[in-house]
Amino acid sequence: MKKHLISHEPKVVSLVEKDYTFIDFLKTVFLWEIVSGLGLTLSALFKKPVTMQYPHEKKESKPGFRGLHALVRKPDTGEARCVGCGLCAAICPSKCITIYTSEDAGSDKVVDRYELDILRCVFCSFCVEACPYGAIVMTKHYEYADYSKEALFMTKEKLLKNWDNYVSEEDAKVYFKKFWAPREEDFESHEGQAVFRNNRQQ
Ligand code: SF4
Ligand code: SF4
Repeated sequence: MKKHLISHEPKVVSLVEKDYTFIDFLKTVFLWEIVSGLGLTLSALFKKPVTMQYPHEKKESKPGFRGLHALVRKPDTGEARCVGCGLCAAICPSKCITIYTSEDAGSDKVVDRYELDILRCVFCSFCVEACPYGAIVMTKHYEYADYSKEALFMTKEKLLKNWDNYVSEEDAKVYFKKFWAPREEDFESHEGQAVFRNNRQQ
């Protein structure tokens, strides 16, 4: 029976016997792995950087980005579009929306307070989806980190201010057209969208 030189380390012995070639030996002597790693690092110096120098460089938010919330102002009166139905608060999984309503002299519902605790929000956008009036949106704004909790507790006034500050006139026009007065083309499927067909249509 063949005896190994180092009988208590059989794997090391078998590697040396079978796989270790002269090229491997040279690579070990000349520290090839380190040299090739350094070469890779050096080559990165001449490539276009993929990182951004935030906050000096800022990334444009893509359509559908879920940023800071805003309450939509009616373009004609400047009042909040919200009617206080409470659907957004009901669907919110974090229970971070609270709405206080009352009735005015003409028995119309008035939204006295609309409060949204951003620190509890999970940015699911369910409130936006649930609103039957298109009265709440998530803006493209993402730079609202702050040192105080109060700054991140949104009141109705603050949410309306967010609409003024973070939704451009052009974006507002698109929003009103698409969600307040949609036309046929707003319901068209985008290119490549999966379409359901039942047996009768095939
Ligand atoms: S985005 Fe989701 S978690 Fe945040 S307020 Fe809306 S429903 Fe609630
Ligand atoms: S934001 Fe929309 S869903 Fe929420 S209370 Fe106002 S109208 Fe109703």
